Amino acid sequence: MANKKIVIVGSGIAGVSAAEAARKNDNEAEIVIYSADTDLPFYRLRIAEVLKDPANAEKLYLHPASWYEERRIKLMPGVNVVGLDCQDQKLALDNNEVVAWDRLILASGSRSFILPLKGFDRENCFSLWSLADARKFAAAIREHNLQTCAIIGGGLLGLEAAWQLIQAGLKVKILEFAPSLMARQLDPRASELVRQYVESLGITVLLSADSEEILGKDSTGPVTGIVLKDGRSVDCDCILMSVGVRANTEVAAEAGLDIGRRIKVNTAMVTSCPQVFAAGDVSEVDEDGFWFGLWSISMNQGKIAGANATGAQLHFEKTVPPYVVNTLNTRIVSQGDLPQEEGAGYRFEITEDAENYSYKKLVYKDDQLVGFILLGDYAKEMVSLQKKL
Ligand SMILES: Cc1cc2nc3c(=O)[nH]c(=O)nc-3n(C[C@H](O)[C@H](O)[C@H](O)COP(=O)(O)OP(=O)(O)OC[C@H]3O[C@@H](n4cnc5c(N)ncnc54)[C@H](O)[C@@H]3O)c2cc1C
Repeated sequence: MANKKIVIVGSGIAGVSAAEAARKNDNEAEIVIYSADTDLPFYRLRIAEVLKDPANAEKLYLHPASWYEERRIKLMPGVNVVGLDCQDQKLALDNNEVVAWDRLILASGSRSFILPLKGFDRENCFSLWSLADARKFAAAIREHNLQTCAIIGGGLLGLEAAWQLIQAGLKVKILEFAPSLMARQLDPRASELVRQYVESLGITVLLSADSEEILGKDSTGPVTGIVLKDGRSVDCDCILMSVGVRANTEVAAEAGLDIGRRIKVNTAMVTSCPQVFAAGDVSEVDEDGFWFGLWSISMNQGKIAGANATGAQLHFEKTVPPYVVNTLNTRIVSQGDLPQEEGAGYRFEITEDAENYSYKKLVYKDDQLVGFILLGDYAKEMVSLQKKL
């Protein structure tokens, strides 16, 4: 009997982890990864480093090409999967090829969500998800001598990009839609300290900033600024849109797989088609739609999908990970239950060193630690506090 053919869509951390686990469990299977990414698989969470120095791109590869060859993992970069037939177990590629599979792992991840903002088609408007995106932005910074970037979105990616851009010598203005930074992860005081810290680095932060239109030289020329719905305007010569992600579910949806916001899988990472697995950012687990968009979760799910595609019976254990921002020369952490107010059994213990933008909030319920927020120096306590949760 011919060896099993395992096909993986996507060469992000979920896809590569799936391939590695499949090979560990099955030395004979044929393993192929098709990926829209044109680079060797890379540390996506570090791509903003390319903005500071384009030479960093080469340092971001997960493995050299030989690593895949040694494991007989066939990597097909720059190939888009455009169609899926679950019944006939076939995939259609954008080079008109049709390939058969015995087990399929969809690890097609996310893409940047782009707000339908007038003027975003002007020169020097960027988004950041692939290494190619980072290279393009880094090249424009240098070729067009860009000086000031407005970043739409003050989340984890926006802050990381801001940090790399100021180190590249640009001025940065963060436009955050919400009235505070990281409102979902922090309390108002922690948000305010983060804002003050970010501004202390020379980065301007505009809150409640709802973008109306990107302005430019004449009707189609390069960016000159951005105007907000409340009338405020910001001068800049480039824009980074960083307002979240959308999952690449189109191929799976057209094939009739069950989709919520993402591809639905059970804890074995199996989709509504028993021969098809999905893992990482593109998947949501069980009825509760478990999804965090995190590197470690994608890696873990990829390993499970890869092993299970060879016949293992592993299950993903859902645990709520901490929210950690490791950038701007500081650390921002939040985890667990964070009610707005004390009462109903909840009690807060707060320690603050405002001069150093450090803050610690411990949340107790019936004297048991149930959550915490840590900024700056106090973030060193993350691991010891996690053990007490
Ligand atoms: C700048 C930045 C900073 C980040 N910081 C952090 C952080 O600090 N901590 C953290 O945990 N996470 C962070 N993340 C998020 C983390 O990188 C993602 O959660 C993780 O990369 C998801 O991995 P994935 O393999 O599921 O999907 P992806 O990395 O999105 O990979 C999907 C792959 O599928 C390919 N693909 C898509 N559609 C097709 C198709 N039709 N045909 C073929 N190939 C296709 C893509 O080209 C890509 O190779 C960050 C992300 C970015 C961009």
